[in-house]
Amino acid sequence: MNKPLILVSNDDGISSDGIRFLEEAMAPLGEVYVVAPDQERSAASHALTIHKPLRINQKDPTHFSLNGTPTDCINFALYVILPRKPDLIVSGINHGVNLADDVTYSGTVSAAFEGSILGTPSLAFSLEVPSDPYSPFQMETAAHYARIIAGLQLERPPDPSVLLSVNIPNLPLEKVQGIRITHLGKRILNETNIIKKEDPRGRPYYWIGMGPKDYDPDEASDLHAIDHGYVSVTPLHLDLTHYPSIHSLKKWEEQTAPKQDGTPFP
Ligand SMILES: [Mg+2]
Repeated sequence: MNKPLILVSNDDGISSDGIRFLEEAMAPLGEVYVVAPDQERSAASHALTIHKPLRINQKDPTHFSLNGTPTDCINFALYVILPRKPDLIVSGINHGVNLADDVTYSGTVSAAFEGSILGTPSLAFSLEVPSDPYSPFQMETAAHYARIIAGLQLERPPDPSVLLSVNIPNLPLEKVQGIRITHLGKRILNETNIIKKEDPRGRPYYWIGMGPKDYDPDEASDLHAIDHGYVSVTPLHLDLTHYPSIHSLKKWEEQTAPKQDGTPFP
């Protein structure tokens, strides 16, 4: 029987430290292929490239880069590059967490979303940024938990409709408190994160800064788990429908219906 085929991708680019650690973490679990953007595409969200040609750069039999987005990479891996359908897709290890509303911007999580859409169980791994710029990313910690969680995932009955977004606190392994299964939290937005500055010629320019640190004090949330030293595992699915609103909005169908004589509303 074949070993599980594991596809590794990311949004930080094929040369990033995170993808190297993730590939090494997956090696004991199966046959590993890497298909990733040729440069950093963080915050690319779920973008698909449709206005320019894409090229595959094969570095060796199992490493490929693409001049596209994470979503492009998953499509090309599944339909052009891999010898067979993968058993698991893993994305990361991202340099920075993807908590709460981050998942809507994240290329890392979107690669896993694409894997899920295309019918393969998928995991996204993101590591907290060090608290000061001179401290290292604890990639060994993230890789350790990536291997554990990918191993557990491979033992589960596959359900491609649900992907797991895993966030890891930037701590030495012995300081991590364990794993928490969480839901997406909610940050408290009380000021803009668009920072205005002035260039040497006196013209304004802007940076989009980091998100707010404050969050709703919900102990079951991903934000709370990371803040308290736990690895956060959040199951996500792509059905964004808010089902309770369907009932209350249903009356709009009647209110806006064309009249009996065919006259359109209003
Ligand atoms: Mg990134």
